[in-house]
Amino acid sequence: MATKYIFITGGVTSSLGKGIICASLGRLLVARGLRVTVQKLDPYINVDPGTMNPYEHGEVYVTDDGAETDLDLGHYERFLDIRTTQQNNVTTGRVYFDVITKERQGTYLGKTVQVIPHITDEIKSHVTGLGESENFDIVIVEIGGTVGDIESLPYIEAMRQLRYDVGRKNTLSIHLTLVPYLAAAGELKTKPTQHSVKTLSESGLSPDILVCRSEYPLDETIRRKIAQFCNVEIEDVIASLDAESIYEVPLLMQDEGLDSRVIDKLNLPAKNADLVLWKQFVDKIKNPKTETTIALVGKYVEHHDAYKSIVEALIHGGAVNDSRVSIKWIQSDYVNDENVEALLDGVSGILVAPGFGDRGIDGKLSAVKHARENGIPFFGICLGMQCAVIEFARNCANMKGANSTEFNESTPYPVIDFMPDQREITEKGGTMRLGQYECKLAKGTNARKAYGEELINERHRHRFELNNELRETLKQNGLIVSGVNPERDLVEIIEIENHPWFVGVQFHPELKSTVNEPHPLFVSFVKASLLYKKDYSKIESKQKQTV
Ligand code: GLN
Repeated sequence: MATKYIFITGGVTSSLGKGIICASLGRLLVARGLRVTVQKLDPYINVDPGTMNPYEHGEVYVTDDGAETDLDLGHYERFLDIRTTQQNNVTTGRVYFDVITKERQGTYLGKTVQVIPHITDEIKSHVTGLGESENFDIVIVEIGGTVGDIESLPYIEAMRQLRYDVGRKNTLSIHLTLVPYLAAAGELKTKPTQHSVKTLSESGLSPDILVCRSEYPLDETIRRKIAQFCNVEIEDVIASLDAESIYEVPLLMQDEGLDSRVIDKLNLPAKNADLVLWKQFVDKIKNPKTETTIALVGKYVEHHDAYKSIVEALIHGGAVNDSRVSIKWIQSDYVNDENVEALLDGVSGILVAPGFGDRGIDGKLSAVKHARENGIPFFGICLGMQCAVIEFARNCANMKGANSTEFNESTPYPVIDFMPDQREITEKGGTMRLGQYECKLAKGTNARKAYGEELINERHRHRFELNNELRETLKQNGLIVSGVNPERDLVEIIEIENHPWFVGVQFHPELKSTVNEPHPLFVSFVKASLLYKKDYSKIESKQKQTV
């Protein structure tokens, strides 16, 4: 079967949740036995989001092959249970970079290099290249930005051309719009959708299906009106109402018939959707038997998107434990040894987040110390693990002034240091230790128990490492090295003695947690926090009885 391409554009406003709609449609099509992948086309000039601040862009999602990509790829992996690669994320920067490189190499010799056809050809080759790479049945192409933006135009033009290149019957155009409710008029309004469809159609890519975000249900009259003005059949007006959880969206889209319409229009050989496991998962997160509160200590906490995959992995880990995980967001800038107890009061687990630069480090160190001294389950991720090592060195291994050379180059104890091969690098883009590496787990550790196997693979994104020259001294003082990369002998996981659950990981486990395969460390961390909560409430009630 020839690969079919579904283009998804967004109109009226940004933040309508295009990524979730793409991921949900992907899940529904996978559930019908089709081989699906999703690709994000981003209209910015950065070659990848790796150099962007989390305030600008949210989390940078890293794939197995070490690509630094848009966080929507995280949704695709979590919803579809697939692995994405560099090919799943294309930016305008990358497209121009490649075209200009080819021009310098003389590839277009004699020609004037232009947006049409050279840039559009390059975009199309990325799209069809992904489709052909594994002979997918379907590639869902999410076009970033909002219709009407200048910067999205080459993508829309490329998709318009692609409709003819691969045959119209092999493509579908879905437009996500907003149907706002005007309180003063007491009505849902269709005009923004009409205008958005008009703008898209002017670029030659008229939609076959409209997905309409709305706070209220769309009645027959509204649907008819949208269909009539926007040149689609009434069955192709799909309502997308606000959902309690993003994981409900596939089920809501199925109720609205989105996947059936896609199947019909693309003439796909599809079986009935098997969503049994998905429904069980949604049921678990909507009706948890218990609850636990985890503190997430980080410096970007005002911007939850910066920790997207961690939040989702906690939800997955919670579901396995029949528990809701509430996150207490703690701005690390404000934490110190004096206020840490009050700030972290009532939490049953402490997660210290990844990050770069020295802002908020002292607060993170206070949080680590509080977790270590009070036996509160602790999970340190990347920078969070590095903070755990620094805190341990200073307070348990007699290394006064221990630090990472990221924060103090002249520290007497550089327990976290540049990897030798990072020293000479001056360019910032794509130069970290990126992507998947193997890790061997030590017997009897919490990490080994959680994974239940000896060899694992996890994704990395960092420049600094635990310094092997100080490793022995740290170990002699009780630091447990529970995971090591066998190839380069790098410490990947640390734990400590006499603590129920204290795990620091140099990698990013959150990136591999999916609905069908929740990450073992998150499952184990949530479990430890529930045990802590149970023990703690026992102690509290005993104390009350004695008073
Ligand atoms: N800043 C640290 C490093 O580069 C940690 C990075 C991270 O947390 N992703 O090693």
